Amino acid sequence: MERTDWPLLRPAPGQWICADHGTIDRPYAGVVLACPNCLVGLLRTVLVRGQVMYREEAPERCAGPEQHLLVADAVLVGWIGCPCNASGGHRSWACRSCGDVQSWPPHDVAAAQPYFGPGAGDRVPGMVS
Ligand SMILES: [Zn+2]
Ligand SMILES: [Zn+2]
Ligand SMILES: [Zn+2]
Repeated sequence: MERTDWPLLRPAPGQWICADHGTIDRPYAGVVLACPNCLVGLLRTVLVRGQVMYREEAPERCAGPEQHLLVADAVLVGWIGCPCNASGGHRSWACRSCGDVQSWPPHDVAAAQPYFGPGAGDRVPGMVS
């Protein structure tokens, strides 16, 4: 699997890009629009003062009962370190009004589990399953 060759992309505003899979025509609709191949949140191609930029997809509203709009100062963008995926964690969006936290990509419980196979006892002394 080749990584996206950024300089070779012919960016058009409104395009969705995955760093690993290039231009995505049919995004997967998760908490944010995501790459259907790897579920990583997509980058949206936007023009800012004539310059092409890639904006990270983010949820529009919080998932709390009041569904606050997550614009600029209303949201705290963060990162939850986690071994369950190749990117090493989850992007998180915390609503400053109600504290609701959304994250993406979804947590993979199976992939995050410690290793219990042959030799596990030697590597992780004292670990209880
Ligand atoms: Zn991808
Ligand atoms: Zn909220
Ligand atoms: Zn995880």
